Amino acid sequence: MTPIRVLAVASEVYPIVKTGGLADVVGALPAALQQHGVTTRTLVPGYPAVLNALASAETLLQWPEFYGGPIRVLGGTHDGLDLYALDAPHLYARPGNPYVGPDGRDWPDNGIRFAALSRMAAEIGRGAIASFVPNIVHAHDWQAGLAPAYLHYGGQPRPATVMTVHNLAYQGQFSPDMLATFGLPGEAYSLHGVEYYGTISLLKAGLQFADRITTVSPTYAQEIQSDEGGMGLGGLLRERSDVLSGILNGIDIAVWNPATDPDIAARFSAEQMAERAANKAALQRRFGLDPAPDAMLLGVISRLSWQKGLDLLLDNIPTLLGEGIQLALLGSGDHDLQDRYAALARDNPGRIAVVIGYDEALAHLIQAGSDALAVPSRFEPCGLTQLCALRYGAVPLVANVGGLADTVQGFDEAAVTGSAATGIKFAPVTSEALAHGLRTANLLFNDKVTWRRLQLAGMATDVSWHNRAGRYAALYRELAAARR
Ligand code: ADP
Repeated sequence: MTPIRVLAVASEVYPIVKTGGLADVVGALPAALQQHGVTTRTLVPGYPAVLNALASAETLLQWPEFYGGPIRVLGGTHDGLDLYALDAPHLYARPGNPYVGPDGRDWPDNGIRFAALSRMAAEIGRGAIASFVPNIVHAHDWQAGLAPAYLHYGGQPRPATVMTVHNLAYQGQFSPDMLATFGLPGEAYSLHGVEYYGTISLLKAGLQFADRITTVSPTYAQEIQSDEGGMGLGGLLRERSDVLSGILNGIDIAVWNPATDPDIAARFSAEQMAERAANKAALQRRFGLDPAPDAMLLGVISRLSWQKGLDLLLDNIPTLLGEGIQLALLGSGDHDLQDRYAALARDNPGRIAVVIGYDEALAHLIQAGSDALAVPSRFEPCGLTQLCALRYGAVPLVANVGGLADTVQGFDEAAVTGSAATGIKFAPVTSEALAHGLRTANLLFNDKVTWRRLQLAGMATDVSWHNRAGRYAALYRELAAARR
């Protein structure tokens, strides 16, 4: 195998900075790629948490002026990850979330913050760090979208570029006045450049200029080529469909392993399912739910946003109560949804319970203790919680969209195809269809033999990164070979 060097560029990386699935992917892919002969360095902004994690890092580059201030690039390892941190105090030495200030608003200079990240990726792509000259620059989401553009306008020779869309809804739009500040030539502000409905879109830049585009499931790769799913970029994606493909996400099966998980009440496996009941009891206690072993316990772990369809579950509280299904929801985001869930929990003690917040350990207990896990997303590029659910024997109840469609084998479709069902799917993504899905789930739950079969088929599903990373490795190799 020809060795391949990849510079990954992203605004988040698990376990250091995470607001969503992007961080999980960026954090887990390098180790899986290593087994396919691919060496990765990941360039991330030098947020305080990153600099702390890289306490003993080495300074690889130092420039007095870069997008408004002095910078260094630090290289170091953390938790097995080889990281480059763009240490730029004027851009990243701030508290809180990577994108949003303490007042809940986007940082006003987000455009420059992520242009700088992308520009540094292009510089490293062109050999600024002699000890690691990559074959491939792999940009993740809009924050890294300018990297392929900078490499394009910088001319040949350059490394090959891959742009991965983790969520097309976030497009990184900024005023056209920023063109020069971003360091882009005037010609870039055009239909086949970075221009997007009168703005500059960093995501569009990446989609326009990358040699290859990937997204995180095959179904989402199709959906985003439609006018509706394309969210304004459908035309461009259709035009570039010959270089667009979908590669499913995996999960880190060492972090998500019910047989060794330190965050759950009792460890279990497909061979030892009896122990799982202790997790359900612990989850009911932790959430203040009635200690009812026979009531179906539905878990939710999610950002609370329109995308995730959790307003549809709110509409279905009467269905849950009528069916005797308990709900344990962990989530944060949209304040209106937070308030409505909190109010319902107050009104229905013992039956509906909600923890508003972000709690990684609690997410593990929910996976281990829930009977089913609901993911009613309106669209879902891949989705990770249903993969964890499969591994933990929580039967996924999912909308039949995007990566949910690709990773869960629905009870109905399995009956047709003769394959083993691993969950319940509903379509279209409406309150009524979800109600039907909930009733079906409860019916199946009450047939213990069928339910156990669903659980075991889910637990036998390969949700690891190994084969999926192999698809990225093959893509990188093809691109690298074409440039030789
Ligand atoms: P997205 O990236 O759109 O938020 P994904 O399903 O791809 O959705 O990834 C979400 C990740 O974040 C999963 O690892 C999930 O377990 C985690 N997560 C989401 N909300 C919470 C929360 N409130 N507490 C703990 N983990 C959460």
